[in-house]
Amino acid sequence: MIRIAQPLLGEEEEQAVLAVLRSGQLSQGPAVRRFEEAFARYIGVQEAVAVSSGTAALHVALLAHGIGPGDEVITSPFTFVATANAVLATGARPVFADISEKDFNLDPARAGESISERTRALLPVHLYGQAADMEALSALARRHGLALIEDACQAPGALFGGRKVGSFGAGCFSFYATKNITTGEGGMITTDDPKLAARARLLRDHGQRRRYVSEALGYNLRMTEMAAALGLAQLQKLDALNERRRANARYLTERLPGVATPREIPGRYHVYHQYTIRVSKGRDALLRHLRDRDIEATVFYPLPVHKQPLYRGLGPSTGSGGLPVAERLSREVLSLPVHPGLSREDLDAVASAMREGLAAGRAGRVAMEGAGG
Ligand SMILES: *Cc1c(COP(=O)(O)O)cnc(C)c1O
Repeated sequence: MIRIAQPLLGEEEEQAVLAVLRSGQLSQGPAVRRFEEAFARYIGVQEAVAVSSGTAALHVALLAHGIGPGDEVITSPFTFVATANAVLATGARPVFADISEKDFNLDPARAGESISERTRALLPVHLYGQAADMEALSALARRHGLALIEDACQAPGALFGGRKVGSFGAGCFSFYATKNITTGEGGMITTDDPKLAARARLLRDHGQRRRYVSEALGYNLRMTEMAAALGLAQLQKLDALNERRRANARYLTERLPGVATPREIPGRYHVYHQYTIRVSKGRDALLRHLRDRDIEATVFYPLPVHKQPLYRGLGPSTGSGGLPVAERLSREVLSLPVHPGLSREDLDAVASAMREGLAAGRAGRVAMEGAGG
């Protein structure tokens, strides 16, 4: 099986975790501190706060902004459900604004139309590893006095206008096993606001600045030392791993003529967490064809968040125009393996299975125009 994702761990990671195991300190300690400092430097911000997952990063970032019941947060419906769940977990309401066909990310114009007197934050997602339009979204947040929280779980190292994502607002990252770098489970919040970072540190550890003195309602969302040791070793490799993803993406694109392959928007640096094509007709037949050939092609995501049973039950949060782009894309997208563990033979097998599937007339095609992601 040619997998859709594969963690790449080597001797460095093994040695780093062994050293922690032998040190006697396993929960949040000096390795976490070092990982935070290295990650903040990498993103180009003053502060980074390590937590136990990407979901925890989103939850804590929202809470640290004081977001809660009665508030609205504008976000993308075309994402992993954790983005919106983190909003629900604070007691606030996620409001879904449609995405752009250009990059599959929150459309700044649609987000602007969704602002109400209850709106407190914009929560764009850098889906598949390509930055959202951070120039327009930053301007929108500034104009309306809104917090800007970035779901950068799929995009560590991605750039917009030469700047790393996660440095425009509060950045939320995930180190789950399938992400561009991994600590098994893990997450990070990045910010230039020391007060926000201090609140995030309280929230991840039962509101304790000092041990056994609780100042606020917090949680146990700490990162382990083993995870931080993995993260430090992985971070050293992140740029090289992303370059390999980009090379794999170029290789596939050259071999898939006539396919609506992903496109890197000028001024952005795509880190290809996923390599996602569009298939206007017969997507599911093509998916089966690839699976039959042991290629783990996958649909991210078959059901937009507002269509999830949980969110349907909450009543409308989509505005009057609906979310036609997100709904169409959820029927058309297909992600092919692109991760850095793939060999040349694997990539050739993916490309030839794709060509075969398309030639067999199992699938229609969409024009290049609109191929984003
Ligand atoms: C992975 C992911 C998350 C959640 O991260 P976890 O570490 O799995 O909690 C949130 N948003 C997006 C877009 C993701 O891809």
